[in-house]
Amino acid sequence: MNSLFRKDLSDFKPYEAEVNNCQVILNANESFINIEKQLEEEIINVIKDIKINRYPDPTGEKLRKVYGYYSGADKEKIMIGNGSDELISIVCNTFVNSGDKIVKLNPDFSMYKIYGVLHGAEVLEYDLNEDFTLDIDDFINFVNNEKPKVVFVSVPNNPTGGIVKKADILKLITSVNSIVVIDEAYFEFYGNTVIDEIDNYDNLIILRTASKIGLAALRLGFLITNSALLMEIYKVKPPYNVNSITQEIGALIYENKQVIEDNISRILREKSSLQISLLSLSERINFKIYPSGTNFILIEIEEAEELYEYLKDEGVSVRFFGKGRLENCIRITVGNSDENRILLEAINKFLGDK
Ligand SMILES: *Cc1c(COP(=O)(O)O)cnc(C)c1O
Repeated sequence: MNSLFRKDLSDFKPYEAEVNNCQVILNANESFINIEKQLEEEIINVIKDIKINRYPDPTGEKLRKVYGYYSGADKEKIMIGNGSDELISIVCNTFVNSGDKIVKLNPDFSMYKIYGVLHGAEVLEYDLNEDFTLDIDDFINFVNNEKPKVVFVSVPNNPTGGIVKKADILKLITSVNSIVVIDEAYFEFYGNTVIDEIDNYDNLIILRTASKIGLAALRLGFLITNSALLMEIYKVKPPYNVNSITQEIGALIYENKQVIEDNISRILREKSSLQISLLSLSERINFKIYPSGTNFILIEIEEAEELYEYLKDEGVSVRFFGKGRLENCIRITVGNSDENRILLEAINKFLGDK
């Protein structure tokens, strides 16, 4: 039977989301606010009206209209996806033939590589600077030498939290003959976007997600690009990829922009106080805190693995990578004030035990 399996998948492992019994979950960049609770009545009402016996609207007309209003993009330039993960896969499927190249940064979001390889691409990684900033001119040279079909860049970057200035993003787009995907998964926490530029360039695609603003369970993502690229990408989109429940709840919540904005403000307030507390802890034993345009904070500490295990024993789950440039790094999602206090007390105890 093994002879029927794809040889290029022999080293692959099924994606395992970390399962643990921790009471404080700060490992997946989710929101600590359950947005559905805030609109519970209305959500129940829209679910009641769904015709479960009928297929969902393939293009999500209503949801695109609401998201267009929310994001400032024209609804005819938006495609919906089953999470932005699926849209990454769809982009690869649209542009990549077996043997074509794609380029991603290192470190950056891991799914670019996974979907790239799954679609037969040769995946090339370009290293960020030691401090996780991007040397844009050198990167442009790299891309122009390799001539990939697609370049993926998350802005802000997951897992570093770092940003690339808009002028540099536009320079990249104009300087290369590749599709450039700017993944704005953390847009709501950063505030800057290139969404208003999609009609000015023929090679720009933007990705957004509902997952980081309190809707991870829905599995909903958005792709925004110019009409020519969108038409090409529609050839590949599975017709009924986003189910009716997700479409209805998504439309309801994005219509309540004020609820989303209030929640983001709350998360950003918690982030500021977490950053201040981490900074004062870092003066006791030297660890590095990277600047972040997101809802998480990356720290670098020599005893990263020990700290990660220690926190887990204390009931706090954070993200540890344990290899490459991220060997000594831990990514901490901003939690609510109680969760952050428990985290800080645990780090404090860990440092005290040193
Ligand atoms: C979380 C994340 C995604 C995935 O979003 P889903 O919509 O949940 O699939 C995509 N890109 C980046 C950079 C992310 O951090």
